[in-house]
Amino acid sequence: MENLKIAIVTGAFGGIGSAIAKELVQEGCLVIAVASAKRTAADYDEWLNDTQLNPALVRPLFLDVTDQQACEAAISNLLEEFGRIDILVNNAGITRDSTFKKMTAAQWREVIDTNLNSLFNMTQPLFAAMCAQKFGRIINISSVNGQKGQFGQANYSAAKAGMIGFSKALAYEGARAGVTVNVVAPGYTETPMVAAMRTDVLDSIKAQVPMQRLATPTEVAQAVAFLASDKAAYITGETLALNGGLYMN
Ligand code: NDP
Repeated sequence: MENLKIAIVTGAFGGIGSAIAKELVQEGCLVIAVASAKRTAADYDEWLNDTQLNPALVRPLFLDVTDQQACEAAISNLLEEFGRIDILVNNAGITRDSTFKKMTAAQWREVIDTNLNSLFNMTQPLFAAMCAQKFGRIINISSVNGQKGQFGQANYSAAKAGMIGFSKALAYEGARAGVTVNVVAPGYTETPMVAAMRTDVLDSIKAQVPMQRLATPTEVAQAVAFLASDKAAYITGETLALNGGLYMN
């Protein structure tokens, strides 16, 4: 336990989150796997079975990342229990796509709350402790659509672009204390949700990507693990794009 780094991964039961949890465990972390509050212990057992992760190296935490007070309390409990949290991966996210003309206030707010306000909720109660311990890795999962915009995703693109601005600003505040803040911006990734798309839609997406394929969740997770590692100690405020050439900034 003493040599393990303590990592929090939100959206850990999802396609990309599961891969991130696996990768961080492999790199010597104990992972607090944050799943939404509607998940249960049975979902956790199923997830453990799917990922084949060692139950001694993961811990479930059922938490709504849009609930500021619940996040504050959960982080405070974790800090008390473990004495430190080394890595935070803000990965939980949703889409509520609609053309802007038809977008409802609820669609706007839900996406901003889950993808962007959750960064405040999860990071704010942790940041001072990371600075005090003189080490921290905060990695925020944005999207290519936050970099280039996307038709029908004004809410999602705004939230994902906001994550990049947030990370750059916070990078200044953490720099002296060795707390880095970076972004991973995946392109379309082969998660179960994307894999379930109609083949013709999927083919047309692939055709737009210079590499003619989607990212794998493991590729995204490896980028996260790199930014979380000691090898990335001098990288902060950066956005690492994994999009097969779809958008070159
Ligand atoms: P998934 O839907 O598989 O995973 C998202 C996870 O977020 C789910 O496990 C979900 O939990 C969790 N979540 C949603 N709302 C909340 C909440 N209020 N509180 C706590 N947890 C919540 O998506 P992906 O794995 O594909 O996406 C992961 C991240 O990567 C997202 O931020 C997404 O925007 C981003 N991304 C994905 C791309 C892709 O092509 N897949 C491309 C670019 C970026 P639950 O299932 O319990 O609701």
